[in-house]
Amino acid sequence: MIKEWVIGIGVAVLLFLAFLGANVLPLFFLAALAVGFWVMMERRTAVPAVSRDAPVKHQVSFDQIGGQDHAKRELMEALDFLRYRDRIKSLGIRPLKGILLTGPPGTGKTLMAKAAATYTDSVFLSAAGSEFVEMYVGVGAQRVRDIFRRARAMAKKENKDSAIVFIDEIDVVGGRRGQFSHQEYDQTLNQLLTEMDGMSTTTTPLVLVIAATNRPDILDSALLRPGRFDRQIRVDLPDKDGRLHILKIQTEGKPLAADVDMEHIARETYGFSGAQLEALVNEAAIIALRQDKKEITQEMFRDAVDKVLMGEKTGRRPTEEELQRVAVHEIGHAIVSELMRPGTVSHITIAPRGNALGFVRQIPESDRYLYTVEQLKQQINVALGGCLAEELHYGNRSTGAQNDFVQASSLAGTMVKCGLSRLGIVDEEHLQESVLDTEVRYILSEQEKETRELLRPYKDDIANFANFVVEQESIDGAVFRDWLEKTVQPAVKERVAAIPMLPPHTGEVGLNA
Ligand code: ADP
Ligand code: MG
Ligand code: ZN
Repeated sequence: MIKEWVIGIGVAVLLFLAFLGANVLPLFFLAALAVGFWVMMERRTAVPAVSRDAPVKHQVSFDQIGGQDHAKRELMEALDFLRYRDRIKSLGIRPLKGILLTGPPGTGKTLMAKAAATYTDSVFLSAAGSEFVEMYVGVGAQRVRDIFRRARAMAKKENKDSAIVFIDEIDVVGGRRGQFSHQEYDQTLNQLLTEMDGMSTTTTPLVLVIAATNRPDILDSALLRPGRFDRQIRVDLPDKDGRLHILKIQTEGKPLAADVDMEHIARETYGFSGAQLEALVNEAAIIALRQDKKEITQEMFRDAVDKVLMGEKTGRRPTEEELQRVAVHEIGHAIVSELMRPGTVSHITIAPRGNALGFVRQIPESDRYLYTVEQLKQQINVALGGCLAEELHYGNRSTGAQNDFVQASSLAGTMVKCGLSRLGIVDEEHLQESVLDTEVRYILSEQEKETRELLRPYKDDIANFANFVVEQESIDGAVFRDWLEKTVQPAVKERVAAIPMLPPHTGEVGLNA
């Protein structure tokens, strides 16, 4: 509209100047140039702003995804309707329009969606929920329309029968309408639903929507209705075998030293996601580079695990006195850990890392999903071991055990909520805060007494060993076990049953915090 007006006025002015007898030729050229430039700019800005929908150049296959056997199988099954369309049609099966991948970050949901595109020979377009959120009302809905239109166009251009539209973080736009969202998101969500409802399941190209979220609980129920995302696939943190598989994929082609024991690393990395394992391998390689080595050794992997778990080594230099206290504290954790479950201390470190001044890393014996009351109590003991060793040695405690107490309290809370405390079976919803509190405190004080007794026989030896730890900075589990074996009290040994451990204990907050 404005364009027409400006051109009109421009022409009128030129004609008027020409009428007055001025030389208008240069002016005329200038005007033509300006109009051409304007039109070009407009074309450019009209390109939709959805950014990550360029065709994926390198293809991801299901073989490059470690672990996740169950999720992979389910996804492949669901995808077969795209691969065997004729059979699906002859059986009168309603084809799938949407698949929802749920699970924690970094477990490979994006990889799965990409692999799905490769597997079904579809074009792949992706966008994240947050990209649909704009200041201006209606832009989100417009972008949704756009991506579907582009998916069809791209499939046609590349001569493919199907397109996969991947929407990451769908919870950003797909939160329960009116509850976890505001109006702009609602419009975007409505547009997505409209697109999916309008998607024909018979014409070519077929469009399949794969969405990912780690908050399926907050999704609007309209999204999960039949004909929309009616297939949900859980993509969980990998178990030990899964981690081993991912580590093997991630280290492929990297120069590993002969001493590298992947089994061991997989065992040590309980709770790691695929993305964390990828980061771990990368960190190990960086350590090799820094040390100017040609191969990645087991020790580099061990340091890399520490780095991924606890953060980068900090330049903080605690005083000699603080170092001694941290050593005593960590030895406390380590003794209790070894007494409860021999062979679980991977190493003890007093080099500050992240916001921890020191830590003991435990090797989980195996991945576990269920814990008995004994196991929970033992893990509380391990958490309390640090400050109680300080108390035993110095006669006082420090601020360094804050994290331990959070952990111990949470374990005790779990005990109560799971009906494993004196209260017996409880309904978590109707459990009074004060009742929970009292019971948690009771559990902690009982375990405190028990742990104090476990540590008492080591009172004098702790000091000697702490000096050694301060000297060495980092002590291997095997060295620690040797020492413990020499000082171990038969009476204590007898009282301890061999029971598996919980996930690794993580470090302390700063002593000066
Ligand atoms: P999500 O989408 O679940 O957050 P991604 O698929 O984006 O996770 O994973 C991020 C990166 O982590 C991947 O590019 C890959 O390097 C690594 N990764 C995650 N899960 C796996 C897995 N199961 N197998 C191999 N690599 C993985
Ligand atoms: Mg992702
Ligand atoms: Zn501690």
